[in-house]
Parts: sequence; C-alpha cells; structure tokens
Amino acid sequence: GIRLEDELIRIRQLLEAAEIEFQLEGSPKLVNTSLITENVLSMCLKEAVTNVVKHSGATLCQVRIEPSRTDLLIKVKDNGTGIEGSSLYDKGHGLQGMRERLEFVNGSMDVLQDQGTTLIIRVPNVFK
Ligand code: ATP
Ligand code: MG
Repeated sequence: GIRLEDELIRIRQLLEAAEIEFQLEGSPKLVNTSLITENVLSMCLKEAVTNVVKHSGATLCQVRIEPSRTDLLIKVKDNGTGIEGSSLYDKGHGLQGMRERLEFVNGSMDVLQDQGTTLIIRVPNVFK
C-alpha cells in the first residue's frame, strides 16, 4: 500500500518535471484514517495530478489536506483549461476509477470548474 506522504513526494517530482508549480497545504500525517482509505486517497491523488499534467495546461497545482471532525477532504486544484463537459466520464477511466474506489471506502468526489479544475475528494474518519 502507498502512504500519502510517499505519494506526495512522487507528485512533487511529477509536477516539477512538467514545470507546474506545486503548493501543499496541510499535513499528510493522517490520524483518523484507515490504511485502506489512505491507500485509496494516494491512488486518487496520483490520478488527479496525472490528469493535471496530461490535460490541464496549468501553471499551478494546489493540494489541500483538510481534516475535520467527521471527514477528511483533499482538494486538488489547477489553474488550467477546465474539463470539457463531454469529457468528464467519457474519455478515460481515471475519474470513473477514482469514484469507484472512493465509494468502496464510503468516500465521494466532486468536480468544480472555476478558472481551472478542482477535485474535492472526501473520506469519512475512523475512530480507533
Ligand atoms: P486515463 O485516466 O484512463 O488514462 P484520461 O486521463 O483521459 O485517461 P480521465 O482521467 O477519466 O481519463 O479524465 C477524463 C477527461 O477529462 C480527460 O480525457 C480530459 O479531457 C479531462 N480532464 C481530466 N482532468 C482534467 C484537468 N485537470 N484539466 C483539464 N481536463 C481534464
Ligand atoms: Mg486520467
């Protein structure tokens, strides 16, 4: 399984190679998240950032890790072209795969289009 901290190292390298500025807010040291959920989050983050590199033409990618009392949110925002409406679930399997994996851990994903693309990934906390 992949820890979020390790995936962040890789996406930092990926974005650097693509000459896209990377900004990280929040800590990847998760306390209320199960390992399986963290693995799913890592896969989602990888796919989201791969999409930014492949499709967005962005100059900036911001990742925000936001814990709350009940949930963990990860927001991946770029300042690129935005997703053309018809492409959202038709063209590839990445976004669909993210949704399916998130459902498996009772999470969800929303796509916002506002001067680029923002993916909002949500998973529930577990209390150990
Ligand atoms: P795959 O992920 O299966 O390799 P893919 O990346 O084309 O292929 P998705 O990840 O499902 O498929 O994305 C679907 C489409 O949405 C993409 O083909 C692209 O047109 C568009 N897209 C996704 N993310 C972004 C983004 N950050 N900016 C602009 N367009 C995007
Ligand atoms: Mg993709």
